Amino acid sequence: MEDQQVACPVCTETILIPVEEYAELLEGDVLECEHCGAYLEILSLEPIELVVVEGGEDGFYVLCPRCENEIEVEAEGEAVTCDNCGYTFTPDWSEVTGEDEGRDYRN
Ligand SMILES: [Zn+2]
Ligand SMILES: [Zn+2]
Repeated sequence: MEDQQVACPVCTETILIPVEEYAELLEGDVLECEHCGAYLEILSLEPIELVVVEGGEDGFYVLCPRCENEIEVEAEGEAVTCDNCGYTFTPDWSEVTGEDEGRDYRN
């Protein structure tokens, strides 16, 4: 066995999984992409298939209320236009969580 390389589905960078780590992975485990910080759940191991659990640092994901398309949004607080059905809406930002959820800003 050799180290496994898999392309991050979010940022397309290669994620290297050392063989000893790969041997301990199970379907359903979650990896973190070292390049973009995305969380990737393992769907299957041979060959390795990943599904994005939570996007990386580039943006947030919201669901279109009309067609349930997943839309990546860059900045919080703006209206979003669905690229699937064209519907424009303003997400409930209090329910949209980025990677910093839970961070305590008080020092
Ligand atoms: Zn990535
Ligand atoms: Zn839509």
